[in-house]
Amino acid sequence: MPDYKAPLREIKFVMDELLDMPSHYASIPAYAETATPEMVDAIIAEGARFCEQELAPLNRVGDTEGCVRNEEDGSVKTPTGFKEAYAKFVEGGWPSLAHEEEWGGQGLPESLGIVISEMVGSSNWSWGMYPGLSHGAMNTIEMHGTQEQKETYLTKLVTGEWTGTMCLTEPHCGSDLGILKTKAEPNADGSYSITGTKIFISAGEHDMAENIVHIVLARLPGAPEGTKGISLFIVPKQLPNEDGSVGERNAVSCGSLEHKMGIHGNSTCVMNFDGAKGWLIGPENKVLNCMFTFMNTARIGTALQGSSAMEASFQGALAYAKERLAMRSLTGQKAPEKAADPIIVHPDVRRMLLTQKALNEASRALVYFASQQNDIVKKAESEDERKEAEELLSFLTPIAKAFLTEAGCEATNLGMQVYGGHGFIAEWGMEQLVRDTRIATIYEGTTGIQALDLLGRKVLMTQGASLRRFTKIVHKFCKAGGSSRQVTKMQKALAEVNKEWGDLTMKIGMGAMKNRDEVGAAAVDYLMYSGYVVLGYFWARMAEVAQQKLDAGTTEEAYYKAKMQTAQFYFDRILPRTKAHAVAMTAGASSLMDMAEDDFAFL
Ligand SMILES: Cc1cc2nc3c(=O)[nH]c(=O)nc-3n(C[C@H](O)[C@H](O)[C@H](O)COP(=O)(O)OP(=O)(O)OC[C@H]3O[C@@H](n4cnc5c(N)ncnc54)[C@H](O)[C@@H]3O)c2cc1C
Repeated sequence: MPDYKAPLREIKFVMDELLDMPSHYASIPAYAETATPEMVDAIIAEGARFCEQELAPLNRVGDTEGCVRNEEDGSVKTPTGFKEAYAKFVEGGWPSLAHEEEWGGQGLPESLGIVISEMVGSSNWSWGMYPGLSHGAMNTIEMHGTQEQKETYLTKLVTGEWTGTMCLTEPHCGSDLGILKTKAEPNADGSYSITGTKIFISAGEHDMAENIVHIVLARLPGAPEGTKGISLFIVPKQLPNEDGSVGERNAVSCGSLEHKMGIHGNSTCVMNFDGAKGWLIGPENKVLNCMFTFMNTARIGTALQGSSAMEASFQGALAYAKERLAMRSLTGQKAPEKAADPIIVHPDVRRMLLTQKALNEASRALVYFASQQNDIVKKAESEDERKEAEELLSFLTPIAKAFLTEAGCEATNLGMQVYGGHGFIAEWGMEQLVRDTRIATIYEGTTGIQALDLLGRKVLMTQGASLRRFTKIVHKFCKAGGSSRQVTKMQKALAEVNKEWGDLTMKIGMGAMKNRDEVGAAAVDYLMYSGYVVLGYFWARMAEVAQQKLDAGTTEEAYYKAKMQTAQFYFDRILPRTKAHAVAMTAGASSLMDMAEDDFAFL
């Protein structure tokens, strides 16, 4: 596999030409002065250098070495080089990029932070999870912490001196947090004693920072059952001293490390809280209200795993397909001077590469678009604008999270397939991408759970209003027509599925009135259908941009032609997948639910 190369041209295409980020930043007073085009370009270029030179070379090291727990004291050693790379990351000021200046951040937009996260993710996802998890902790404290909590914890997280975790999952529950058992008993000094076991905690213990700030979900005595009785707590590994320095060790420790399929460089810990000292964040028993505010960011962050893995896998597959020789082209030899033609001449290899490329480029557009909405939610001046963006983002989030991670698995598998048997061999790096990416469809809400969120909570519970908000945008774009017959044809195909999306929703909604299982039975097909339409929208928009550039006589003709060709590939060969999903989602629940549990297998 070739070394990772940051796709700067593609990033620029989406940032500047598709989403017009320069005008977007200029229109938001908080960013107008800081996120100037020169500053944005310089940050992206420096981020690219860091990812290519510092992080990418450690990706395989992380996979082969993994993390090691010291049996004596429960400390965890990260793979060779991880700690040093993190020190450079902190020194470069990267953790503070998109955080508030008040807490030591640089006050730059989240949508710029996501570009850096994409490059970090493509070059070394396991490493990126350490600062990535801090992000969740920072957002929680920023939104719900007291002034004192912000001064004590947020400032250290923002500089990157300390890292954070999110401790939700317990041995008996992950999707259903309503049944979690970790307890929080009040102490006389206003703190709480936290007791319980959390599992699968990413970055729960490591040697990269002097302190780890755990955000823990736990129940207060007498709290109502279910999700309405969960509260949030800050539980530091080391208790902070008055002056902010690291003090006494808290009663929280890593009981063991999980042995897992991928992301070996990231520590996945069983965390034991043995009466650890913690402090309540936000109101008692209102965890869900607190979580919803940052869930969109966290989920877009996981969507990025699918997207960034596609880029890494595509880069490897493309280079290999140009070099590997096998048989002759069906239409006559293309490299007569060689023993055989490079495999890129074969239609099926092109199918795989173009599927990767088409999913990858549109996924970047969706993630950046979602982040652009996030900037508006955080910083737009008008309340109406913020509300509109929040609703749009909330609708797109489960689609981005679940669809892009599923697509990430498909794309990395295709990348491995392009390598043939060599794809299965570790030294090429392609099987690592498959293994590392697989978890993305599971954590931060499984595909099934995201699908229920989309169809149940976001669409049906709003009587379709959230769907209509997006389909109206698509409709308006399609109605405006394209700059060429080719683009207009794409818009026509898009308009058809856009309309069908609403019809299918109505149909499922009607069925759900009689039988609630109809929602669960349709949900994942509905989500996948939605993903293909959303990516179709971005492809049609990208095609329109490319067409306009071609019409204007660009000096980059080959680049924009390739964009048009990839868009055409998407409309010819990927968007039609909606048809199968439409049939499946309206097939009803009976073929899923009629079989008795005992009849699933006769062994
Ligand atoms: C490597 C790794 C890192 C992780 N990092 C963290 C972390 O940092 N912090 C943290 O708190 N957790 C973390 N997790 C946990 C992760 O978020 C959970 O594993 C995930 O939420 C699923 O929960 P579960 O494993 O309990 O599966 P379950 O909830 O038991 O789900 C099992 C299956 O049932 C399905 N299912 C459950 N309920 C429904 C329903 N109502 N309708 C339809 N299908 C349903 C699910 O989709 C899934 O397919 C991590 C996990 C791993 C493996």
